[in-house]
Amino acid sequence: AYNFNAGPAALPLEVLQQAQEQFVDFQGIGMSIMEVSHRSKQYEQVHNETQALLKELLHIPDNYKIMFLQGGASSQFTMIPMNLVGEGQVSSYVHTGSWANKAIKEAKLFSDVHIAASSKEQDFKEIPDLSALELPEQAAYLHITSNETIGGIQYQQFPQTGKVPLIADMSSDILCRPLDVSKFGLIYAGAQKNLGPSGVTIVIAREDLVQESPANLPSMFRYDTHIDNNSLYNTPPVYSIYMVNLVLKWVKEKGGLAEMEQFNQEKTKLIYDVIDQSQGFYRGVAAPADRSIMNLTFTMENEALEKQFIQESQEAGFVGLKGHRSVGGLRASTYNAVPYESCKALQQFMLDFQKKHG
Ligand code: PLP
Repeated sequence: AYNFNAGPAALPLEVLQQAQEQFVDFQGIGMSIMEVSHRSKQYEQVHNETQALLKELLHIPDNYKIMFLQGGASSQFTMIPMNLVGEGQVSSYVHTGSWANKAIKEAKLFSDVHIAASSKEQDFKEIPDLSALELPEQAAYLHITSNETIGGIQYQQFPQTGKVPLIADMSSDILCRPLDVSKFGLIYAGAQKNLGPSGVTIVIAREDLVQESPANLPSMFRYDTHIDNNSLYNTPPVYSIYMVNLVLKWVKEKGGLAEMEQFNQEKTKLIYDVIDQSQGFYRGVAAPADRSIMNLTFTMENEALEKQFIQESQEAGFVGLKGHRSVGGLRASTYNAVPYESCKALQQFMLDFQKKHG
């Protein structure tokens, strides 16, 4: 299938085949990695190697910790304000659409929320201009959503926040391009787009921010619990972490993040070019300067035509081109694992569809 699902999303075929080979017998130990103790040498090796691979690919500095948590990126919406907003502080957010909104909603339960900028008036079709950003003195952090999966907008550069730690939800674009981790206080991502299957959430945090959580928090919701125990306080999602390990090796084999970015640019250009040259038959949703290289959103003249597009695309072997139920329209998600050939096929399908119905 040409899989353009938004999430859970396509995984590299090579990774799936490798996992299949090792499914019943992991490296000759006579059982699956799912069956070994999470305290065993075999699992420990996978766990630590996965951290090391992330560190290598993202050039994560030594004063950062990597956690493997559960509960999805959605739990981070809650854990972040719970752990990081101290007495007398506020949390600061940039509102860019559906996912930022969910993060804000949760933060309101635990803190006074300051909206530093919003593109609501632009219908979330762009990233707000953050060049003259002013943050309250008592801001504990500034939270951004680096890629809005539903709206299809993505930061091209990150705001300067001075002493205020920058926190980013990178669920839908981590590993799609090189990143200067040292600019961030904390980065988090659910795995199920560019990292692996759902079940594990990666949190990369500057050590000084997370080494001591407020005393009244339950153990599982404290960053310090997970850091003190190398994410082995309770049973980790062993199989998901193992799959992330394979995906990271695949990214490394492909040449790393600069190569991933180039690959993603080439793939998405195929589709954005069709949109731009269609004379209004296809209409890009995002402002061109803020277009995502992960989620490409577009609409057509009317819903009937969009329905027709979805139906014919399904018949032609394309999966997941329907826009999110909250906004409608169409969306092609072109995560790292989506092959160039799939985008080429979609390009041709879109051209043919326009010829037939335009
Ligand atoms: N943040 C973004 C940007 C997302 O795209 C998603 C899921 O699609 C989430 C958060 C929620 O992630 P999870 O389902 O892991 O809670």
